[in-house]
Amino acid sequence: MVAQIIDGTRIAAQIREQLSFRISGLKVSGVTPGLAVILVGNDPASESYVRGKGRAAEELGIYSRQINLPETISEDELIRQVDYLNADPKIHGILVQSPLPSHLDENKVILRIDPAKDVDGFHPMNVGKMLIGVPGLLPATPHGIQELLLRTGNDPGGKHVVVVGRSNLVGKPVAAILVQKAKGANATVTICHSRTADLAKHTMQADILIAAMGKPRFITADMVKEGAVVIDVGVTREEDPLAKKGYRLVGDVDFEAVSRKAKAITPVPGGVGPMTVAMLMVNTVSAAEEQTHRNQSKRV
Ligand code: NAP
Repeated sequence: MVAQIIDGTRIAAQIREQLSFRISGLKVSGVTPGLAVILVGNDPASESYVRGKGRAAEELGIYSRQINLPETISEDELIRQVDYLNADPKIHGILVQSPLPSHLDENKVILRIDPAKDVDGFHPMNVGKMLIGVPGLLPATPHGIQELLLRTGNDPGGKHVVVVGRSNLVGKPVAAILVQKAKGANATVTICHSRTADLAKHTMQADILIAAMGKPRFITADMVKEGAVVIDVGVTREEDPLAKKGYRLVGDVDFEAVSRKAKAITPVPGGVGPMTVAMLMVNTVSAAEEQTHRNQSKRV
């Protein structure tokens, strides 16, 4: 079997195109959606992610503001910056790029973001809404994975989804989204992690396998069921003197071998990554719509 390559770049472009109509609608009523991204320090990978998010916003006509803060910033000062953005009516979405330097408590900073502006979907209020299945801001990568599945005809309903990874960023939320009693979900979900005994026994059962470990090429063909759908979330930079940038991006899945066994597979890059950015834009627009609606209701 030769797998269908799930083209995240193309699907993300479709999503952005659909989103542009909603942005035009907001602009007609005098609102330009605004996204603020806080970057602490100068980690090259984080800088590159933040640039990508800013570029995507600008291309869509979303107002984008990047706030660069020094590595040495105190927690109090970082929280003050979040407070300014919470109070700024031009900003509808705020995200703090992770990872933060170790002297800063990421949870404390996230808790300070107004949940209505929490476009990363990491605030406990939004996490709670996701768990109980109430509409709210969903985390971008897990939501992007659900969209990838649905838009390629791989509805997870009734399927066995095996997630490898239990982070708050990817593993746990993607499991929570796909297990919901809701259209586009209804999966039976298994979550695996580094203490799972006999990982391959579980991954072999997957109709849909989601790898979110950060371990390059860890998932080999013998760990995948014939005809499975494989979503590779992992992104690791590997040095490559032949590459223009001096490195290349590698996923958690042994793409060459697994693509000969799977029914469909996401490449790295060009799979989940572009979807993460697209879903962040969706959240920014949803947040702007919600805040506009709330302000209009207050005025009436
Ligand atoms: P993380 O917080 O480091 O979590 C990794 C998870 O993988 C942990 O739950 C860990 O288990 C599990 N794991 C590690 N080694 C394992 C093993 N040998 N067997 C089974 N499970 C194992 O990472 P993350 O933030 O979830 O990110 C995962 C990957 O996705 C990274 O490469 C990251 O760069 C990438 N990512 C990509 C996007 C995108 O848009 N494409 C977005 C977010 C993340 P324990 O919990 O037991 O330690």
